[in-house]
Amino acid sequence: MAPKYDVVVVGAGPAGSAAALTAARAGLAVLLIERGAYPGAKNVSGAAFYGSRLLHQLIPEFWKQAPVERYVSRRVLNVLTETDQIALSFRSESFTEPPYNAWTVLRPRFDRWLASEAVRAGATLLTDTVVDGLLWDPSNRQVVGVKTRRPNGDIEASVVIACDGVNAFLAREAGLRPPADPHQLALGVKEVIALDRAQLEDRFHLVGQEGVVQEYLGGLPGIRGGAFLYTNRESLSIGVIAQIASLIESRQAPYTLLERFKTHPAVAPLVRGGVVVEYAAHMIPEAGYDGIGEVWCPGLMVAGDAAGLVLNAGIYLEGMNFAIGSGIAAGETAAAVLAQGGPGGQNLRRYRELLEERFVLADLRRYRKAPSLVMAPEWQETYPELAAEVLRAVFTVHPTPRAKAGAIVGEVLRRHGRSWWQAGRDLWRLWRVLGR
Ligand SMILES: Cc1cc2nc3c(=O)[nH]c(=O)nc-3n(C[C@H](O)[C@H](O)[C@H](O)COP(=O)(O)OP(=O)(O)OC[C@H]3O[C@@H](n4cnc5c(N)ncnc54)[C@H](O)[C@@H]3O)c2cc1C
Repeated sequence: MAPKYDVVVVGAGPAGSAAALTAARAGLAVLLIERGAYPGAKNVSGAAFYGSRLLHQLIPEFWKQAPVERYVSRRVLNVLTETDQIALSFRSESFTEPPYNAWTVLRPRFDRWLASEAVRAGATLLTDTVVDGLLWDPSNRQVVGVKTRRPNGDIEASVVIACDGVNAFLAREAGLRPPADPHQLALGVKEVIALDRAQLEDRFHLVGQEGVVQEYLGGLPGIRGGAFLYTNRESLSIGVIAQIASLIESRQAPYTLLERFKTHPAVAPLVRGGVVVEYAAHMIPEAGYDGIGEVWCPGLMVAGDAAGLVLNAGIYLEGMNFAIGSGIAAGETAAAVLAQGGPGGQNLRRYRELLEERFVLADLRRYRKAPSLVMAPEWQETYPELAAEVLRAVFTVHPTPRAKAGAIVGEVLRRHGRSWWQAGRDLWRLWRVLGR
């Protein structure tokens, strides 16, 4: 007997809803299973959503109906030491026009809306349901459905798409992902801080629905990671992202890091007077391309965080757009394979090919060396300190003759036991990894 569903999608985050929407639009019978009381109830991101152009292709002018907060007109890259700040701020008028470049969103509202679009396209949504494992056909080692934590909870499907997030239990059961490694996982802790709208717009120089995304590198001694601060309509999203191995080594509690970040002299004035209305913590896969195993086996495709598809390259922290991009590719593959009839789910190789052809794996491959480089101590601590020392010396005015910038840099390098040659080599490596 044919299974009741063509496709079962596990997890109604951005990956799952995009997969369900794509497969349902292709006319497949789709079941989208979510463990939370509603999609987004348990989901955490910054969240700066860099998939505006991508989602516009799927749902034209989605911003007119989606619960988005602010379009990002300005991005600020900050390098911090314990007391100082170096910032590069970029605002573009082109970011303020449709289809926009990025939006800030609040996940509980955004995910709920995206899942409702999948339902509108014909998918069935089943909430409050935990998937505990896969159903296998022992004769050919093919996935043929899922086991749920409900009475008589087995659900058969021609194809299963696992979008169950960073823990990736289903992908691990299928042997597609290696055991979790604390060097390849980060913990993100985040708060939403309510702030009066007029005050927020004044403080961040915003007009109308404009928003700003600020990323921070450095300033957290002993920790490999970074921090962020994003503006929503009437709140700020602020958080710290720390590699789990560095949390263990430095014995620092994640919430103390966020407290410390909020008191940094460059950050404290931005959050002053706000009221914390939400606190959340969640893991992030950050191994990049080299940590991605196989993304399919007969009957199963894995998308989003469950497949490790997150770009963390210092200047980029992007997961939601990679989740949606991979979800779309999985939905398309299911539709193409099942349209051919027969034991459809056997060969899902096209899914991997689509990811390699599109930005999802192309970008991760391009920046494959970035995660380890941006976590290296020289870029987390040494060069931020060094750059701040140089700028402090350049901008400090004494009633004595000034040294030239080259002499100041030479002196600072000497104090840090580094030669010009070493600094040049490190910069060249950075350029090769991020710029070439
Ligand atoms: C603090 C923080 C900040 C971040 N900031 C950004 C950012 O600014 N921009 C960005 O693009 N990305 C950001 N990310 C990354 C981004 O959140 C993820 O990459 C993205 O959410 C991945 O989407 P997903 O659909 O794959 O997984 P998820 O969003 O994790 O969704 C997985 C879904 O599966 C459900 N589920 C899990 N297990 C089961 C089960 N057994 N049965 C049924 N349902 C299940 C969950 O409830 C959830 O709804 C951030 C992450 C963190 C933690």
